[in-house]
Amino acid sequence: MRLKGKVSIITGAAKGIGQATALKFAKEGAKVIVCDIDMTAVNETVDQIIVNGGEAVGFRVDVTDKESIAAMVESVVNKYGRIDTLVNNAGIVMDAQLKKMSEDQFDRVIDINLKGTYNCTKAVVDIMLEQNSGCILNASSIVGLYGNFGQTNYSASKFAVIGMVKTWARELGKKGIRSNAVCPGFISTSILNSIPRKVIDAIEQRVPLGRLGKPEEIANTYAFLASDEASYINGAVIEVSGGATL
Ligand code: NAP
Repeated sequence: MRLKGKVSIITGAAKGIGQATALKFAKEGAKVIVCDIDMTAVNETVDQIIVNGGEAVGFRVDVTDKESIAAMVESVVNKYGRIDTLVNNAGIVMDAQLKKMSEDQFDRVIDINLKGTYNCTKAVVDIMLEQNSGCILNASSIVGLYGNFGQTNYSASKFAVIGMVKTWARELGKKGIRSNAVCPGFISTSILNSIPRKVIDAIEQRVPLGRLGKPEEIANTYAFLASDEASYINGAVIEVSGGATL
């Protein structure tokens, strides 16, 4: 068990990549804090972990709502006395070409994907500093490396996450806190629902591995980065895309 006893907060953990990460972390022995806005799905994920013999607690956390984050962090510290890992996974898309993108679409994506990542990290950093240890994992995207048609807001948020990760790696590294970004390619979750089937087919053709990724393949990457096996990985930006950008 690579994450035995590690207290791990995962945002957006009730569905998709976040849920796969929660299940993987639990399987690796972590105490998992399942955070999402959908409490029914949070409870289902927690139940699934417990049925499989793992340990988990669930919270309704909206990453744009600092009070909900603070209440969760306080409960976690009261219960476990420490926080080892934060996975800033919650994220959304609201796509439109620049000429049609509304200010609301821009602001909402920045609020969740970028400011939400900042909000959650800010809420745990003092605890990690006191411990002199911690691991902050952050969802970027291949769109945060190369941009994408129709994703001005999303690409801005995902490029910016990488900027924060590199800054945190410099600021916090000497305090025993590692910060890294993961850039998934096209992973089969509901976030792809708005993309027409024929576009998905074309994407699959372009990926050298010939298929979309599975949420578990990103979860495995987060689990490795959270483990002590990744003890010298800091400030890294790791693409997990089946070679989609080659
Ligand atoms: P997903 O299936 O839509 O899951 C995201 C989860 O986050 C959902 O449960 C969602 O709840 C929740 N969420 C939304 N807004 C939130 C908020 N304000 N606070 C807390 N939770 C919130 O998406 P996914 O594909 O697993 O994506 C996870 C992360 O990976 C995102 O950051 C995404 O940008 C990134 N990523 C995904 C892909 C991909 O191809 N799937 C590629 C690159 C990067 P609701 O469903 O109720 O809104």
